[in-house]
Amino acid sequence: MRATYIHGVRDVRTGEETAPEPAAGEVLVQVAGIGVCGSDLHYYLEGGIGSAHIHAPFIPGHEFAGWIVHDHPALGLRRGQLVAVDPARPCGHCEWCERGDVNLCPNVEFTGAPPFNGAMTELIAVDAAQIHPVPDHFTPAQAMMLEPLGVAIQAMDLAHQRVLESVAVIGCGTIGLCLLQLARRAGAEHIYAVDPCAERLEKALSLGADTAGQDLTCIEAGTDGRGCDLVLEATNDPAGLQLAVDAAAIGGRAMIVGIPDGNRYALDAAQARRKGLVIKFIRRMGHVYPRAIRLVAAGEVDVDAIVTHRFPLEQADEAFRLQTERRDGVIKSLIVPRECFEP
Ligand SMILES: [Zn+2]
Ligand SMILES: [Zn+2]
Repeated sequence: MRATYIHGVRDVRTGEETAPEPAAGEVLVQVAGIGVCGSDLHYYLEGGIGSAHIHAPFIPGHEFAGWIVHDHPALGLRRGQLVAVDPARPCGHCEWCERGDVNLCPNVEFTGAPPFNGAMTELIAVDAAQIHPVPDHFTPAQAMMLEPLGVAIQAMDLAHQRVLESVAVIGCGTIGLCLLQLARRAGAEHIYAVDPCAERLEKALSLGADTAGQDLTCIEAGTDGRGCDLVLEATNDPAGLQLAVDAAAIGGRAMIVGIPDGNRYALDAAQARRKGLVIKFIRRMGHVYPRAIRLVAAGEVDVDAIVTHRFPLEQADEAFRLQTERRDGVIKSLIVPRECFEP
C-alpha cells in the first residue's frame, strides 16, 4: 500500500509500506481522508515539537476518517461504514487516566505523533475504542474535522464561557474558526477575530465573528481599551501568548491552544500579573467526539467551510507547502488516499 512520509525538514514523499496486520482488539480501517494539521507542519518545518522528534521516515496524520474494512458484528461495525478515529489511545490505568484526564495521559499512544506513525496511508489498524461511527450522511471531510473540532470543544470546556461575554479569537485557522463558532453558540455578546490574513478574516466574519481585524487594534477600539472577558488563542506565533494577554480584560481568561513555532513564548510578566489573568494551556482532548458529531450533524458548526483544499496522497508534499505558505486562501487541506471504499 502507499503511505506518505516526512523524510526530513521540508522533505515529504509518498512511497510503499507493508499493510498493517490488526492485532487482537484492533480494527482495520481504509483511510478516507486525513487533515494536515498545524502540528504536522512543526514536524515538517522543525523536525519535531519540543522534545518529540521524528525519526525519519515518519508517517504523519492524526486528523482522519475511514471506512471499516471487515464486518465486526460484536462491535456494531459493518464493512464499508464511515467512521471517525480518535488518534489517542490513553493507557487507562495511570493517575491521570483514572481521574478522567485522559488527554494528559503520559503513556498515550497517539496516532501520528512520534514515535507512532500516523494515518497518511491507505490502511491503518486502530483500537476498537478509538472508533466513532458517524451518521450515514457525513462526508469523509466532515468526519475528519471532528478531531480539530474536538480540540476546540476541549478548550471551551475549560473556558467556562458565560452568557454575553466578549470573546477574542486570536488566529483564524481551523481551530480558531471552530472556537469562534462554539463561542457564538455559547452565547458570546461580541466576538473579535484577529488574524494577519485577510481571507481568514472574511471566513471568520462569515462564520459568526462580529468584528475582524489584522491586529489587536480592533479590540482596543471596540472595547474602549477594556479588552475581552475571554481570549481563545489558536496561533503558531511565539507572540501568541502575549497577544492573548494584551487582548484580555482585567480579570479575564485566556485559553492557549496554539503550538508556537520554535517552542518558546516571550511574555511581559507585569501585564499578565496585574490583570490577574487565568491562563490555561489546552492539551488535546477528552471524550468529546460524541458532542462533536452532534454539533456537525445539527449544522451548529460548519466544518465544510474550513476544508478548502483536497489532494491525493501522491501530492501530499504540495499540501504541506500550501499550508506552510498559506497561499490560495487555504485553511485546511484534506489528503484523500482513495475517493471511495474499495478494499
Ligand atoms: Zn491536529
Ligand atoms: Zn494513562
